[in-house]
Amino acid sequence: MYQHLDNKQQPIGLPVGKAVCVGRNYLAHIQELNNEVPEQPLLFIKPATSMVPFADDIVVPVVQGPCHHELELALLIGKPIRGVSEQQAMQGVWGIGLALDLTLREVQDQLKAKGQPWERAKAFDGSCPLSGFVPLGQLPQPQRLQFQLEVNGQVRQKGDAGLMIHSMAALVAEVSRYFTLQPGDLVLTGTPSGVGPLQPGDKLRASMGSLLAAQAQVRAA
Ligand code: ZN
Repeated sequence: MYQHLDNKQQPIGLPVGKAVCVGRNYLAHIQELNNEVPEQPLLFIKPATSMVPFADDIVVPVVQGPCHHELELALLIGKPIRGVSEQQAMQGVWGIGLALDLTLREVQDQLKAKGQPWERAKAFDGSCPLSGFVPLGQLPQPQRLQFQLEVNGQVRQKGDAGLMIHSMAALVAEVSRYFTLQPGDLVLTGTPSGVGPLQPGDKLRASMGSLLAAQAQVRAA
């Protein structure tokens, strides 16, 4: 059973809600998939049933085709947020951690081609492994955070929050115009470039500088 933990692996005591995710928030990732730069942030939601600990085994439904890793900074919401300004937005954020936005890439491509929603490709059970969360008070400059994903000891994704098209505060403000954010909800801030398929047996290590690290092994569903 998933519950939100802090960076010392202690329960935070917030409920588990939805994750509102942004697509295409880093230019290099938009280019690697030949997508267009959206005029406004592209949003989708992963349900609470998608959330699992980024620890031990991460179960991937490889029978449905390539399942890509997308490592992203995840904002954990601590207070109700609705229709806030960019200036107020971060006041409702409890902390920041790492999420894997697991994506069945071929399924997503087929859905895109038909103009259909992406949930089958992105919102399935276990599609959102989550690390612990560092309290915002321990992060004086969140928009400068750097993070990375290693697969079998090789760096596959390197992220720098300074390269986001929409800042974290801008994303929270935009999201909160459409979806009330409740304590325990998440905002996923988009993936940097370097996405690729996971294979059973792959060893994953995600880290945010020296602030946070999570390790897991990929297992076939
Ligand atoms: Zn993503």
